[in-house]
Amino acid sequence: MTEVAHLVLARKYRPRVFKEVVEQGLAVTALKNAADHGRIGSAYLFSGARGTGKTTIARILAKRVNCLNPKDSEPCCECESCVSIQNGSSLDVQEIDAASNRSIDNIRDLRENVKFQPMNAKRKVYIIDEVHMLTPEAFNALLKTLEEPPEHVLFVLATTELNKIPETILSRCQTFAFRKVPLNILQNHLKDICNREKIKAEDEALFWIARRGDGSVRDSLSFLEQSITYTEGNVTTGKVKELIGALPLDLYLGLIQMLLDPKTKFPDLVEPVHRRFDEGADLRRFIWDFLDLLRALSHVLHGVERPEFVGLPPTDIARLKEAFASADPARIQVIFDAVHNIMTRAQTLRLENSYETRVLIEMELLRLHEKLGRPSLSFVLRRLDRLANAIDQGIPFSTEDEIQKTFLGTMVDPSTVPVLEQ
Ligand SMILES: [Zn+2]
Repeated sequence: MTEVAHLVLARKYRPRVFKEVVEQGLAVTALKNAADHGRIGSAYLFSGARGTGKTTIARILAKRVNCLNPKDSEPCCECESCVSIQNGSSLDVQEIDAASNRSIDNIRDLRENVKFQPMNAKRKVYIIDEVHMLTPEAFNALLKTLEEPPEHVLFVLATTELNKIPETILSRCQTFAFRKVPLNILQNHLKDICNREKIKAEDEALFWIARRGDGSVRDSLSFLEQSITYTEGNVTTGKVKELIGALPLDLYLGLIQMLLDPKTKFPDLVEPVHRRFDEGADLRRFIWDFLDLLRALSHVLHGVERPEFVGLPPTDIARLKEAFASADPARIQVIFDAVHNIMTRAQTLRLENSYETRVLIEMELLRLHEKLGRPSLSFVLRRLDRLANAIDQGIPFSTEDEIQKTFLGTMVDPSTVPVLEQ
């Protein structure tokens, strides 16, 4: 499928007025109020992750300031000005992609252009996307215009990298930070669109699509579009997980259980890694997903159960709770630290080769399994404490019984008692 086909929904449902914008209430309210009171400034800077609505709101603002019949603080979308801006034919609203127009010459042209009065509109609007891409010279040239802007001009600068914008530019702009759209809001938005499009979609499938969209409305809609095509219009959880390569939950749950079980044999422990390797999966992604799941598990064990926070749908959260009801969060933390260590080492060693990554993972899992099999220092101290209490209170005990009860629950061959080491 082509890129263009992916964008049909994103284009169809691109907000045309402020009230259709998903999230970003702060920026929307401030801009509406300013427009209502005729107090739109000469330069704005919108910063935030991709697909959060920066250029969408810039276009709505351009329509609003030039609309001939604004209604309830919104552009009418019907007058000559609104229509020409919507179909991209307005000579007074220019969108510039700074990624491909980053030189001083581009900005010089713009400075020349700025001087002229608008052709038809009240304000000339320049929307400069990815403005952080401008060269230092181009920024300087832009700054001169921002310092003495003609009254008829409105600049809207948009960037995904606020830290790369010079302080001098920032001080000339009113800045709005656009936040990533929360998962539950994205999921509801997708559901709403599916209803309007009469597409059957499971809630959990939409959860995974929204999660993959990572706060971006545009990306979420693009994944929804792909999912609709892939599932032939019946968007089920299984198919969607296949398509977007969602977390193989069973595989990781099995792996954690094996790590926690001292009786696990080495070949069983590394089997999931082999399987993923044979399937041609990216093992660095394998480590990252594992880390992601351990984070989720850790939150669940600490009583956090909000799907949008944990990053898993309610059914999976319930499964984690059930499977690890008696697990010690401290041991999950040990696994998390070890897996994090694997990731850091894979990065430091610049392991591009999947085979090398596989060897590293296998060895670390083995080491981790051994470590988890040993009693922890706090565990031993607790036991000693119990023993001391028993002596104080004159309760009869035998060392062998204690070891038997506390460590293994079976008869002990003294030569197999684990080495105490932290
Ligand atoms: Zn209008």
